[in-house]
Amino acid sequence: MKNEYRVAIIGGGIVGCSVAYHLAKFGESDVVVFEKDYLSSGSTGRCAGGIRQQWSSPHNVILAMRSVSLFEKLSRETDIDIEYKQGGYLVLSYDDQEAVQFEKNVQMQRELGLDVQIFTPRQIKERFPYVNVHEVRLATFCQTDGHANPHLANFAYARAARKLGVDILTHTEVVAVEVLHSGFKLFTNKGAVRSQILINAAGPYSREVAKMVGMDLPTESYRHQIMVTEAVKNFFDPMAISFSGNFYMRQTKHGHFIMGQGDIDEKPGLNNNVTYKFEKEMARKMSKIFPFLSKLRIVRHWSGHYNMSPDAQPIIGESPKIEGFYYAVGFSGHGFMLAPAVGEAIAQLILLGKTIEVDISELNINRFEKGIVREKNVV
Ligand SMILES: Cc1cc2nc3c(=O)[nH]c(=O)nc-3n(C[C@H](O)[C@H](O)[C@H](O)COP(=O)(O)OP(=O)(O)OC[C@H]3O[C@@H](n4cnc5c(N)ncnc54)[C@H](O)[C@@H]3O)c2cc1C
Repeated sequence: MKNEYRVAIIGGGIVGCSVAYHLAKFGESDVVVFEKDYLSSGSTGRCAGGIRQQWSSPHNVILAMRSVSLFEKLSRETDIDIEYKQGGYLVLSYDDQEAVQFEKNVQMQRELGLDVQIFTPRQIKERFPYVNVHEVRLATFCQTDGHANPHLANFAYARAARKLGVDILTHTEVVAVEVLHSGFKLFTNKGAVRSQILINAAGPYSREVAKMVGMDLPTESYRHQIMVTEAVKNFFDPMAISFSGNFYMRQTKHGHFIMGQGDIDEKPGLNNNVTYKFEKEMARKMSKIFPFLSKLRIVRHWSGHYNMSPDAQPIIGESPKIEGFYYAVGFSGHGFMLAPAVGEAIAQLILLGKTIEVDISELNINRFEKGIVREKNVV
């Protein structure tokens, strides 16, 4: 660890590592990433790895579309196979009102250039015979959506950033920050360091890290659980999701089924335990919708956190009050898939004072002064 860096990043999840990689790729490698645990130990390593462009908010669609074009070349660019598969995302609706909203979403998504289809229950059955379409109103499907292995994607960015000269320090916790006249002084469990720029990519801890510089970020973390079945031969290409049905599921490269749901009874907090209630509810629900699952054993179950923002869209940009303090937080349930585009955009904002591929100006914190328009397509 040096005494001083141009840029310090708190958080070695996919967001922090993507920002670090893009900074270095664009020529700024005087960068350090502090990770209090191991890389991908936070939400990233606990997520489902879904990569979806079908959103109700145009910002999320635009960021996800840009991310997909970056995911498509990530394995090649970093020389790590991230198990990226564009098997599509099948979004099932069980609710009449939601079905109407889906049609509006598809119109907006198509206007933004996304190739999305609408399927009737019969068309779903023809294409995906293993799905029980009982009570399904309609589905939307985008073939270029898909999934990847979150650990490998996190490591891919980290390794590529290291190769370009970035210092990535694991088991190094930032415990306090002093805002200087120019720049910051960070106190870690391994000593102090100065930086001109500081980036909060602390995922579930984003609010605590913002407090270190005296800023109140409106993010809250909620536990989400996931369970995994034993492996079977691969046959299930898409990721399936339903907001009204409250589930998502996919098959991994190694044949396991990985699935999760939201829980409205969950209180904000940093609870990492798992519950039998989740296993029971998931197993019952999923074996009705995907009957083949009833024959498979559950082999793993863990929990992680959604770092929620008030409108379920990320809060990204530079602080309007503290010069040089940036954040990429509040990703809710979709920070893995947005990390490539957000990393690229934050790096451009720092180095060029503007972004090139995507405009993130409306995703900064001051948007909440105008009211809240919540992203609807979330589990
Ligand atoms: C069950 C579940 C399923 C999900 N499924 C999906 C999905 O399918 N697709 C998708 O796109 N998203 C999904 N998500 C959301 C996704 O996991 C997150 O949005 C994303 O991983 C956020 O990445 P991050 O780098 O911001 O945070 P993290 O991966 O949490 O990284 C932040 C890191 O900061 C470190 N840190 C915090 N404070 C400090 C400190 N003071 N000093 C040093 N280090 C610190 C933490 O240890 C952590 O490793 C899911 C989340 C969960 C929990």
